[in-house]
Amino acid sequence: MSDCLFCKILDGQIPSAEVYSDEHVYAFEDINPGAPCHVLVIPRRHIATAHDLGAQDQELVGRLYLAAQQVAEKKGVVESGYRLVMNVGAGAGQSVFHIHLHVIGGRDLSWPPG
Ligand code: AMP
Ligand code: ZN
Repeated sequence: MSDCLFCKILDGQIPSAEVYSDEHVYAFEDINPGAPCHVLVIPRRHIATAHDLGAQDQELVGRLYLAAQQVAEKKGVVESGYRLVMNVGAGAGQSVFHIHLHVIGGRDLSWPPG
């Protein structure tokens, strides 16, 4: 999608700080981190929201979570714990409509989130 911010990051039009990359998935530092570890894991294929996922995406969803494990290892938050969050829709706080898993950690995290 040509007007999608994260598609532009994927094709290099907008710079990002890579944390993890493979054939299907890319992870990069959030530009406005809410915690010492705040990384976004995205599929290389454009999907607007988690509610647009279909049966054909089952493997890809698994890849996002496996990439998040790699991110957590690299960022050193496995011992302390981390949170994986995907906002779905503007009403839930989604501001970029290309699915992304937030990997958040490195500080105390309260529950429930705001
Ligand atoms: P969400 O609000 O769940 O859609 O999350 C979007 C995230 O993208 C926010 O945490 C933003 O800080 C982050 N973000 C927006 N623009 C950029 C960018 N150019 N590079 C990295 N992260 C970004
Ligand atoms: Zn996109």
